Amino acid sequence: MVVKLDSEKIERVRELFLKTPLYTPMTYSSVLSPGSVSEAAILQYREFDFDCYCIYCKKETTFRAARSTSTYDAMTAARKAFVLPDLTTAVTMDCQRRDHHQYDYVFRVHPDKIFKIGQYPSMEDIAASDIQPYRKVIEPQYFSELHRAGGLMSHGIGIGAFVYLRRIFERLIFNHHAALAVPIPGFETMGVDEKIEALKPVLPAALVTKRSAYAILSKGIHELDEETCKRYFPVVRSAIIAILEEDLQDRNKALAAKKLEDDLAAALGEIKSNGSG
Ligand SMILES: [Zn+2]
Repeated sequence: MVVKLDSEKIERVRELFLKTPLYTPMTYSSVLSPGSVSEAAILQYREFDFDCYCIYCKKETTFRAARSTSTYDAMTAARKAFVLPDLTTAVTMDCQRRDHHQYDYVFRVHPDKIFKIGQYPSMEDIAASDIQPYRKVIEPQYFSELHRAGGLMSHGIGIGAFVYLRRIFERLIFNHHAALAVPIPGFETMGVDEKIEALKPVLPAALVTKRSAYAILSKGIHELDEETCKRYFPVVRSAIIAILEEDLQDRNKALAAKKLEDDLAAALGEIKSNGSG
């Protein structure tokens, strides 16, 4: 019998590896029918891969599940896996660029659900790899908080993670206002969306257009619940990254312009001294 791989289930398994916080249960997608395998069986026995940032290669790369058994053994095991005992299972994912780059995961597999109970490197470390370049354009304290926000979120802590993001967002707005040659009158008392509108010339265009999405940042802490915070976390994080990315590009442009000026000055100096000599 050919065991059909269900792409939707593989997608769920990928999500469990890459996006689901530790200890969050994932129930199986449906009752098993002949010719299909459960997510647990895919996780434990099947060949599968996912694309993810490799913190060692410092690049997006493909990771493939390391399987020591032969295909025949894997098939037999997959059939056995229709009836699953409670067990802890470890899965090593190999970076396809370098075979000694491995991501390790540990799961608890139950008859009705799976939990991820450990991983190395942590989701925080993987997620933080994309923010490294922004160290140059944000104060160290806020950079650490951006890192910590990702860590809390990877442990399923919504409100805590969101509060960090909010501090960072407010700091960036404050910094951009402070950097203006002429302060905007009444800026401090404006709502978040008004502040974004007022800072239009120095903020990413997409952020300004979609500023109503950030009204959530004006809410009092007591008005926020876990679910709302988790839902808005990616939106606010993307906004922060977009601001930092634009700041970084501006910084690089300014550095390039300065270098060009210095080089031209040096060249001009040489021409003059050659001319006089
Ligand atoms: Zn690698």
